[in-house]
Amino acid sequence: MRPGVLPHQWLTGGPNCIEVPDWQVHEYNADFFIIRESGCTHYEKPFLYLLFGKDRAILQDTGSGKNDSARIVTQVVAKWLARNRRQSIPLIVMHSHAHDDHIAGDDQFKGLPNITVVPATIPETKELYGIPHWPDDIGHIDLGARVLDVIPIPGHNEVSVALYDRQTGVLLTGDSLYPGRLYVNNFADFVRSTDRLADFTRGKIVTHLFGCHIEQSSTPYLDYPLGSMYQPHEHSLELSRSHILELAAALHSMNGIPRRMAMPDYSIWPVTP
Ligand SMILES: [Zn+2]
Ligand SMILES: [Zn+2]
Repeated sequence: MRPGVLPHQWLTGGPNCIEVPDWQVHEYNADFFIIRESGCTHYEKPFLYLLFGKDRAILQDTGSGKNDSARIVTQVVAKWLARNRRQSIPLIVMHSHAHDDHIAGDDQFKGLPNITVVPATIPETKELYGIPHWPDDIGHIDLGARVLDVIPIPGHNEVSVALYDRQTGVLLTGDSLYPGRLYVNNFADFVRSTDRLADFTRGKIVTHLFGCHIEQSSTPYLDYPLGSMYQPHEHSLELSRSHILELAAALHSMNGIPRRMAMPDYSIWPVTP
């Protein structure tokens, strides 16, 4: 597995927004960038992921609220190109799922040279990754000497996907598993998706599991209130495969009756009864 490094703490937003950059760009390794939107721009302060292969790059999500994600992403791509002495690289803009706080910047990318924006719909997601039967089949995308596996995981949203990067062993799980409130919109689908994710990762190395938000504090069981801009003692971004197994067990313990359940590193939050 190709390694990477993580910061000890992420910028969140505030307390003095004038001092806070709109985006935090973190180089996990030379071909893997984690970009976080500031809580001063929008309280959701999501994480975006930019991965480079030999032939193309992929961006997961375009930010929340009124943001300028295309500016920061094209800047990072330009620096990557300069470092690699290349003229250009095609960029595919895809999504962890279709919620507003992950697609808000889409329009800025449309029409830019060498950039393809793939809408967060089931038909276009199936086509992009070659998934014959949604959600039971696994899709793939080859960035050039870098294959990502794509696991459909509906439940938080009908078009949620997880991405497994074989090169780094990182699993991107969107809003389906992250240190915060896991809003479950379709409970039966969410349970099945969690089981499938556990099955998919069995026997594989999962170095880190990265979701798209942090809402949990560094104190077990304690989350920040909804809408928090400034979170000075955040939980780490990274979780591990053990959290998938723990989540699956917790969901099954509900015996088909959804209820809220606080866990040390996240909480399960059914939205519908
Ligand atoms: Zn969401
Ligand atoms: Zn979200």
